Amino acid sequence: MLHFEHINILGINFTKITENQLIKSLIDDHKHKKNRFIVTANPEIVLAARKNKEYQKIINHADYVTADGIGIIKGANILNTPLPERVTGFDTMLKLLKYSNKNKCKVYFLGAKETIIKDTIINVQKDYPDIIISGYHNGYFKNPDPIIKDIKQKQPDFIFVALGFPKQDYFIEKYREISNSIWMGVGGSFDILAGNINRAPEFWINHHIEWLYRLIQEPKRFIRMLALPKYLLLIYKEKFKQKK
Ligand code: UDP
Repeated sequence: MLHFEHINILGINFTKITENQLIKSLIDDHKHKKNRFIVTANPEIVLAARKNKEYQKIINHADYVTADGIGIIKGANILNTPLPERVTGFDTMLKLLKYSNKNKCKVYFLGAKETIIKDTIINVQKDYPDIIISGYHNGYFKNPDPIIKDIKQKQPDFIFVALGFPKQDYFIEKYREISNSIWMGVGGSFDILAGNINRAPEFWINHHIEWLYRLIQEPKRFIRMLALPKYLLLIYKEKFKQKK
């Protein structure tokens, strides 16, 4: 990982970084044509990585691992190793799209269902007219070879991979060497960009109940959200161990 300090939370090394610092650092990376991999990790990802050491290794191999979600910030506070703030995948992606628009960067979009990726591209073209869309593909492919060939040939500045975790992280780790780009896993972000799912209004975000807003929109997420109490329990166990 890079020169930023790290905080270990249940086996994942989080980068001690604010959103502004991250964007600044990524712009610098872009200017120097660096190959970068960003993970925005939430409690679900931390739990998944605890169960699967290979996945944990992949995440800890990323260049930046940010705290996506209030659960990570809370966990870090409980363990007395605070992280500065939440840095979400969606907000980071929007900032990078804005930068790409200003600087006419080449951007590649990979992931989500065919209709979603198509709408994502339409909206990006509308809102960021100066971005050069290097290419795009839905996230339901059997053979990655044509996509890899395309990315290799186009050498985009930024590559957003929306395959959900852990798929997107395995994909990036496996293929990042084919192009010196800024690679980032963005989960369900294309569903929001496409207008398929609404982002929580600011009130919900500021009151740390964005998760509740998502749950109301997508009730099938309930089972996934049970990860949060499980995660907090592990955090308290860890704290107890530290005290002994
Ligand atoms: N997805 C995909 N290919 C797959 C599995 C999932 O492209 O094989 C997409 C899915 O359509 C959705 C995103 O990955 O757009 C995952 O969204 P989710 O909300 O689960 O991600 P989160 O933000 O919670 O990580």
